[in-house]
Amino acid sequence: MKYSDEEVKNFRVWGEFLKYPQCCIEWFCTEHYTERPEDSDYGVADGTGFLPCPACRSLCNTDQGLYNLLGRDIKSNQTYDIREMYKDTLGDMMSPRYKTIANKYDFDYTEYLNEIKAMWLTLNKEENK
Ligand SMILES: [Zn+2]
Repeated sequence: MKYSDEEVKNFRVWGEFLKYPQCCIEWFCTEHYTERPEDSDYGVADGTGFLPCPACRSLCNTDQGLYNLLGRDIKSNQTYDIREMYKDTLGDMMSPRYKTIANKYDFDYTEYLNEIKAMWLTLNKEENK
């Protein structure tokens, strides 16, 4: 099974938005489905949303290695709160930088944005019950 063209565009936009290494974006878009690594293979990056390519994985054995690879700390703003995640995603997608990158990849994110908004509303309704 392969990712659809739209899925690949979506991954490329997020990869660039989040400033992930190009090799890791490329691997995710093309090999990720077939290779199927274990969560533990991602080292300290596991749970951050960043999935390092095989070449970068050994650099992710330590927090410092991950920091050096990405040039910033992605573990400090890590959250397992689903509402926080949707809030962050919506905030990112409303930003001018996201729109610029989406345009660059000719990615029509309207439908995707509407899905995220709908999920966000559902989560908030559940919260207020
Ligand atoms: Zn890489």
